[in-house]
Amino acid sequence: MSTPLPVLICGAGPTGMTLALELARFGVPFRIIDKALHGAEQSQALGVQARTLELLEPARITDRLLALAQRVTHVQIAAGTHSLVEADFGDLPTAYPYLAMIPQCDTERVMREALETQGIAIERAITLTAMRQDSGGIDVDLAGPGGTERVRVRYLAGCDGAHSAVRHHLDVPFEGYALPERFALADVHLDTSLAPDTLRVRLAADGGAVALFPLRDFWRILIESPNALPDPPDPSIFQAALDAEALPARIRDVVWMANYHIHQRRVAHMQSANAFLLGDAAHVHSPIGGQGMNSGIGDAINLAWKLALVIRDDVAPALLDTYAEERGAVGRALLAATDYGNRLAFNANTMVRALRNAVLPVASHLPLVRDRLRENIAQLRIAYPHSRLSVNASPARRGLRAGMRVRGARPASYHPQTIVMHPHDQSAAITLVLRPDGYAGYVSDGAHAHGALTYVRNIIGLRS
Ligand SMILES: Cc1cc2nc3c(=O)[nH]c(=O)nc-3n(C[C@H](O)[C@H](O)[C@H](O)COP(=O)(O)OP(=O)(O)OC[C@H]3O[C@@H](n4cnc5c(N)ncnc54)[C@H](O)[C@@H]3O)c2cc1C
Repeated sequence: MSTPLPVLICGAGPTGMTLALELARFGVPFRIIDKALHGAEQSQALGVQARTLELLEPARITDRLLALAQRVTHVQIAAGTHSLVEADFGDLPTAYPYLAMIPQCDTERVMREALETQGIAIERAITLTAMRQDSGGIDVDLAGPGGTERVRVRYLAGCDGAHSAVRHHLDVPFEGYALPERFALADVHLDTSLAPDTLRVRLAADGGAVALFPLRDFWRILIESPNALPDPPDPSIFQAALDAEALPARIRDVVWMANYHIHQRRVAHMQSANAFLLGDAAHVHSPIGGQGMNSGIGDAINLAWKLALVIRDDVAPALLDTYAEERGAVGRALLAATDYGNRLAFNANTMVRALRNAVLPVASHLPLVRDRLRENIAQLRIAYPHSRLSVNASPARRGLRAGMRVRGARPASYHPQTIVMHPHDQSAAITLVLRPDGYAGYVSDGAHAHGALTYVRNIIGLRS
């Protein structure tokens, strides 16, 4: 019997391509297939968050993305003329203190080109049509122009979007509900004096909203409405929405328009034996906070180094269980936060709106609330404190704890790295095992190389 393919990536959206970039970097053989003839041709997801830019650094695409980005440093949310939130991203604790606004088609192009320069081609017009899992791996049927091919794979990564075939074949429920709100978006050229460093959101009295996103070559107008919107969208509703909120901008021409509605859904388990669900295949939610695409990229970064250790270094496959544990917790928190954000933003109840309008301006000026809000949006606060991979060898103290992001650090390889740090806010040294995704695995006060080695052997499972 031939050796199984180590990894098959089903779906070449941002999630699948991130996984491909990481596996290529780690020297893991894989194939990446997509049923579509080409990638996204429209802007779709715009906001690339600071944490995502950090996570993509080792794949050497962050600079290329930034070359295409409009940097947004301010977010302004108002109800009519009443300012609710003024967030300044300028002093975020990251090398990327802004929201990088990039059309998804450009983000995908940068990823695709980075794969191509390494000789990796996405296999297009290939559809996963069936799969059967046994104790040793998975038989996958791939249908393409030349017929159907059966491939034996060790691991399958379902990065195949909200209507995931992998999820359907695994019979994993996608639990949640459809949001009642209706959304319409238009990418437009505007005549305006509005500064392009600010993302503006206006919440209307009927529970509707309009948001104006700056990009390098155009603007995105997003309308949310509690009522039905014209289908297909009518350009006049976008100008009317700008005028109703007294946003001084005239639409010159429309590049793209779309109507959509949204589900808040997630899978209870992101792993089923040797098959994994990532990105929109595992969680979909409101666009509030611009988290969708970024969360899929985060899933891929989390899984890639674990797959590499198991496949290349023969670490026990139990390490892979931590993918679903860690990213499942992130997905749960993401759905809770976007659900809360929706209720706060799109609420037609007069009492709730009055309370929101009174409390938000005060709360968002409190340094703790302000910092948490910005850092949550930028995904800088994503952490794995309850993971079995997070070990604190010293009693609780302020500062770095296991599971937290280590600023400015991502090892080049898929092996965890032991580091002795001398942070300026601590009098003594800290020993740290840095995971390949830039999170602290083990943290101990003092120089404690033996503890770090024991952690790498016993918790990660590396023999040498
Ligand atoms: C109109 C619109 C606006 C959006 N706006 C935002 C936004 O402002 N902010 C935000 O964060 N997100 C937004 N999103 C969502 C964002 O586009 C997704 O979160 C993101 O694309 C998810 O990436 P992914 O790689 O997980 O899945 P996808 O991008 O959906 O990629 C899945 C891939 O799998 C392929 N595939 C599916 N089934 C199979 C199969 N059986 N075999 C082989 N291949 C298969 C598909 O062809 C596709 O290429 C928007 C989406 C849309 C449609």
